[in-house]
Amino acid sequence: MAEDATEFSPLGSLDVVRLEDGFRGELLRPQDPGYEDARKVWNGSINRFPALIARCAGVADVIAAVKYAKDNGLLLAVRGGGHSFPGLSVCDGGLVIDLSLMKGIRVDPEARTVRAQAGVLLGELDRETQAFGMAVPSGIVTHTGVSGLTLGGGINWLQRKYGLAIDQLLSVDLITAEGEFVKASASENPDLFWGLRGGGGNFGIVTEFEFRLNPVGPTVLAGPIFWPIEEARNVLRFYREWISEAPDELMTIVSCRKAPPLPFVPQELHGKLVMGVLCCYAGAVEEGEKVVKPLKEFGSPILDLCVPKPYLAHQAMFDPSFPHGRWYYLRACDVAELPDEVIDITVDHSLRINSPLTTFVIWQLGGAVARVGEDETAFGGRSAGHTFNIGGITDTAEGFEEERQWVRNFWSALKPYHTSVYVNFLMEEGEERIRQAYGAKKYERLKALKRRYDPDNLFRLNQNIRPDVTV
Ligand SMILES: Cc1cc2nc3c(=O)[nH]c(=O)nc-3n(C[C@H](O)[C@H](O)[C@H](O)COP(=O)(O)OP(=O)(O)OC[C@H]3O[C@@H](n4cnc5c(N)ncnc54)[C@H](O)[C@@H]3O)c2cc1C
Repeated sequence: MAEDATEFSPLGSLDVVRLEDGFRGELLRPQDPGYEDARKVWNGSINRFPALIARCAGVADVIAAVKYAKDNGLLLAVRGGGHSFPGLSVCDGGLVIDLSLMKGIRVDPEARTVRAQAGVLLGELDRETQAFGMAVPSGIVTHTGVSGLTLGGGINWLQRKYGLAIDQLLSVDLITAEGEFVKASASENPDLFWGLRGGGGNFGIVTEFEFRLNPVGPTVLAGPIFWPIEEARNVLRFYREWISEAPDELMTIVSCRKAPPLPFVPQELHGKLVMGVLCCYAGAVEEGEKVVKPLKEFGSPILDLCVPKPYLAHQAMFDPSFPHGRWYYLRACDVAELPDEVIDITVDHSLRINSPLTTFVIWQLGGAVARVGEDETAFGGRSAGHTFNIGGITDTAEGFEEERQWVRNFWSALKPYHTSVYVNFLMEEGEERIRQAYGAKKYERLKALKRRYDPDNLFRLNQNIRPDVTV
């Protein structure tokens, strides 16, 4: 398929009736009720108008919609939870294959596995699996899609003990660019299975995931501890040493922002810059208390919310900070460690935070993430020490440009320390950055896989691995 043939494709004269025939889900055109809501994605700064949204009810609908897109040369976007930072799950003109109606989840408590369809969100998966005292390590905001998160890797609160979301993956069902159904697992199409664990939506549309389950909670010791920004440099230096001895059960995230006016935040802190270390201990609460004690006793914390709580409540902790519809701009990088220079850059830029919504998080990696070999899955950066995710956030377009500039400045200052980047934290940053996410060798292997499964690049609205041969 020629690349320019799919650039912009209003349906106009197209025969939508052909797709309507037997379609179990919903087909929404711009004039239809429900279209406005269905075209919106999580990031409010993205505003696109597809010609048709195919809200699939099942695998047969997905097959029909893929064939329809292919036969008509349509630009195609695929939507799981709609949380792509750069809004890659919606397009102008063309077709959106929206999987959000596909909500089936089935836990097998004896086998300790769960099957989840492609429209499931993290909170929905956690709800079903926690009924059995288990969880799939997935992510930290409940309304994120299992699909996109898993296909990129899936960093999470349990990763140092159990690994990434992809490290739990046992098999997937997938529809190829030809509209064919294939399975991928360690024993069936193992090369495809390798590529799907990090390679995103490049090889087809996953309709169902099968994950291994892990025992978790239901009560965990978890939550944030905050210090005034004036103590941030010392806290981060202490933190660096403290985590170097921490057991794999402990996972931490460093975060800085102006304290939000939430009920559990004392009024005198509202709007003040605070530096937090957020913990989750994936083991016995009493053991966790011993591990976290030195952190709690360091300096003069102003708020300590790291207490025993339901795992489900902890998973929802970040939800109020990242609601749908705000304007988000994010840049990310991995670093090997946190030398004094990185700490200084971090604190200096924290002090320049302007918007009351802007925030950044620094994820701790290591543990089980790093015990899987770099070449065992497509995911890149397993040996990194930390992942920075810097977010400029506003309610509307007002002030957004200033926040973007703050993000870019912070990210650029860290440049000498960049090692890799997590593919799911990329904006639209070009091919070189995608190559960096995987490393040159794996990127070439992914391109070869792309040539096999999607030589015409039907699935291109993603962190695109182009099928062409590098010269
Ligand atoms: C609030 C928020 C919190 C986040 N927290 C985490 C976190 O804790 N850990 C983490 O690792 N990441 C996190 N992320 C990043 C997240 O992993 C990516 O944004 C991911 O792409 C979201 O998946 P989705 O299904 O919601 O997105 P979508 O926008 O629907 O899809 C993202 C990409 O995946 C493709 N895709 C979606 N579904 C399928 C499918 N079934 N088959 C094939 N391709 C598909 C889409 O075409 C698109 O290119 C977070 C993002 C947000 C916005």
